[in-house]
Amino acid sequence: MSRLFAVSNRVADPVGGKAAGGLAVGLLAALKQYGGVWFGWGGKIRQGDPSDPTIVRRGNISYATIDLFESDYDDYYNGYSNACLWPLCHYMLGFFRYERRFSEAYRKVNALFARKMLRLLEDDDFIWVHDYHLIPLAAELRRAGVTNPIGFFMHVPFPNIDVLRTLPDHLDILRALTCYDVIGFQTHNDVRSFTEGLAREGLLQARLDDGRFRADGREITVRAYPIGIDVDGVFRMASRSVRSATVSRTIEGLQGRGFIVGVDRLDYSKGLPERFRAFEQLLARYPETRNRLVFMQIAPPTRTGVRAYQDIRRELEQMAGHINGHYAEPDWVPIRYLNRGFSRSILMGLLRAANIGLVTPLRDGMNLVAKEFVAAQDPDNPGALVLSSLAGAAAELEEAVIVNPYDSEGMAEAIQQAANMPLDERRERHASMIDTLRRHDIDAWRTQFVDALQQSRG
Ligand code: ADP
Repeated sequence: MSRLFAVSNRVADPVGGKAAGGLAVGLLAALKQYGGVWFGWGGKIRQGDPSDPTIVRRGNISYATIDLFESDYDDYYNGYSNACLWPLCHYMLGFFRYERRFSEAYRKVNALFARKMLRLLEDDDFIWVHDYHLIPLAAELRRAGVTNPIGFFMHVPFPNIDVLRTLPDHLDILRALTCYDVIGFQTHNDVRSFTEGLAREGLLQARLDDGRFRADGREITVRAYPIGIDVDGVFRMASRSVRSATVSRTIEGLQGRGFIVGVDRLDYSKGLPERFRAFEQLLARYPETRNRLVFMQIAPPTRTGVRAYQDIRRELEQMAGHINGHYAEPDWVPIRYLNRGFSRSILMGLLRAANIGLVTPLRDGMNLVAKEFVAAQDPDNPGALVLSSLAGAAAELEEAVIVNPYDSEGMAEAIQQAANMPLDERRERHASMIDTLRRHDIDAWRTQFVDALQQSRG
């Protein structure tokens, strides 16, 4: 049977397996089913020549990792990936920074990935590449003569062509994507942005049936494969963890007050200042909420090498201090801002304990926290989800209270609506969201993508 050769910027820790997010869980399940290799950067920086991959074998999976040079890492990861592509894909042009050396490092690192993969590839392997860090990888592999089926999944949104054109080498990005056999996006909207982009740049020759296209001389499959979660797994973990010492103490400390929770990486695309402002609006406009609600925001720092991430951290600290300073009482602090990570189990327990989940990114490919919040709830007495219309998850979770994340007053109203939602309505909304989550769970995501990739072998 063919092996799966999965590639992502970072590879999950084969030993600890800690903080397994959606990508890691989905990929690991696929790798266990087919056996294979997970290839990527191991998280180490080195000075000398690039080394050969370090390989750790666990069961039928080989974890193959390489090191990167410091300067390449900086320009490829902090530069092109996170100061060019990330802000563009999230429609946040104010954060876009471009330098030519970023493009060079991006291509160089992708070429390095391709070179180091060659020795590990077998003729029958099917290759599945993940995310925006590795768009040119198929082009590099094709150049080296690789003819295996290669699939690509984009975890973040794909921008409209007028936004993508901000990038000086945007044509290279579009062309590089046409070197894949199957390209998966989170939503139909992303599929449309990509295929329209190809058409507007003269790269689309024909729309065939069933998500197939002829582009830049090749036949490609382009479809939406919305990433899901392990619904029962999250439910079990949340049910157990809500009784743990940490979560029980948190619930006791609320003394019967309503509990609002937000869990995000500290990223400017997550709309955290707007969310804090919405909570402030709520306290100002609805005085009855004071001393009745507690908002806990968990936001561990990420990408600390990028300036914009240092700025947002400072901004949030100031806002939390300001709001708490203004509204707190001797026995109540309105915002609990936790600028650090927690175990997945504690997070799921806190989601379960919450009456309201606030998931309000300014733009998000999917947003798994929204799905985890729904799956974590007690179906007999579920909390309400307040969800951004600009998260991919909103295309599926229509029964959430949908908000525009730029509209802090609208969000304050939505929180008030969620806080006063009758039990019957909460149950109904929750039941239909759970149905959707089950239909598009993590198994459906990987199975459908891998099937399409295997069929592309022809
Ligand atoms: P993004 O991929 O942009 O960070 P998502 O919401 O799609 O956003 O995925 C985040 C994943 O990481 C979720 O599975 C979430 O539970 C997990 N996560 C978020 N914060 C933490 C944290 N502090 N510790 C461990 N896991 C976290």
